[in-house]
Amino acid sequence: MVSGTPTSVSILGATGSIGKSAAAVIRANPGRFRVEAVAGGSNAAALAAMARELNARCAALHDGAGYRELKNELFGSGIVPMAGEAAVCEAAALPADRVVAAITGIAGLEPTSVALRRGATVALANKEAMVSAGDAVLDLARAGGARILPLDSEHNSIFQALGGARMAEVDRIALTASGGPFRTWSREAIAAATVEQALKHPNFAMGAKITIDSASMMNKGLELIEAHYLFGMPEERLDVLVHPQQAIHGLVTFTDGSVNAGMAVPDMQVPMAHCLAFPERAESGAARLDLVAIGRLEFFAPDLDRFPALRLARTALSEGGALATVLNAANEVAVAAFLGKSIGFLDIVKSVETVMNLPSMAVLKVPGTIEEAIAIDRLARERTREVLS
Ligand code: NAD
Ligand code: MG
Repeated sequence: MVSGTPTSVSILGATGSIGKSAAAVIRANPGRFRVEAVAGGSNAAALAAMARELNARCAALHDGAGYRELKNELFGSGIVPMAGEAAVCEAAALPADRVVAAITGIAGLEPTSVALRRGATVALANKEAMVSAGDAVLDLARAGGARILPLDSEHNSIFQALGGARMAEVDRIALTASGGPFRTWSREAIAAATVEQALKHPNFAMGAKITIDSASMMNKGLELIEAHYLFGMPEERLDVLVHPQQAIHGLVTFTDGSVNAGMAVPDMQVPMAHCLAFPERAESGAARLDLVAIGRLEFFAPDLDRFPALRLARTALSEGGALATVLNAANEVAVAAFLGKSIGFLDIVKSVETVMNLPSMAVLKVPGTIEEAIAIDRLARERTREVLS
């Protein structure tokens, strides 16, 4: 049912893949949503086009150098242009009921925390924010009276499969993984993988960083950590299942052995519609799941020898301290180095492991605040650059 006044929405990371899914769902539901702010990194023309299309009140660009272009592109529209270091946080502070947190990496942490602090409902795609500063993010949400809705497809499916059950009634949670483009490749072939090969994801068209993370399965590692925080599940009760058809995104096993599976086509517009309308339902504009067309669903245990990233994520969870923050920071630096063609594909996870094993990283305590997480992130980035050079 559509209620009278439209829900106001801000989109952080509006020009990216997730941002476009948000725009598609908003378009599919005329009159139901009103866009307060859109925010992006450095592409002024793309941000202005998105702001005009969604009739946003304001457009915020992180890169201050793009201010003039943004202003020119928005001329005559009545949309307020903002640009610079603080602009995206200012956009997150504007009074939108829902904030789509879809900036990639730790760059999304501060803007997301601004939205949580003022008690917004945050649709969280930016898993790196949760991985880097899980406890601090949850504390902020509690203190601000904010709600976090999982937008990552696996976590969204699990959230729906839980159906409001108490966690005491849950035995295990499983995330599925496509296995990425290298699912069937030998370790030798993976070692020689090029940037172009790693950027070819079988089922999803996504930003470059998450696409590389999917190829290394670090994405699933980050998602294990994300699931730990979102659902309060200990590492030993979180499973990963490789499921190439991507019809099931998450599974919940309850204490009586009943299993609920969260299913949908692999299209981010489905979890997006869920997060924007929750607890109601909205049109997603996505295709419907056709199980007969898929015919067969397969499941495999992940191969930790070919995909050691999963083991590192489990180590970060079981050993605690600041290892999740360190893992995320090292991975961001290493993925950028791989995309810049200065290291090989297996060097990504190898360097993350090396940095996590540094005595100076192992002694760090779990970050209690966003500021502490950002400080640890900076430190871990420096160490990673040293390891890579
Ligand atoms: P993307 O690269 O397509 O888009 C990233 C967006 O963030 C862009 O709009 C970019 O301009 C903006 N951005 C980058 N740096 C910024 C900064 N400093 N300030 C403001 N904006 C900035 O990435 P994506 O695929 O849309 O992924 C976004 C996030 O969602 C990531 O955390 C990813 O892990 C997560 N996610 C993505 C998918 C997917 O299907 N793409 C699925 C689940 C989760
Ligand atoms: Mg996911």
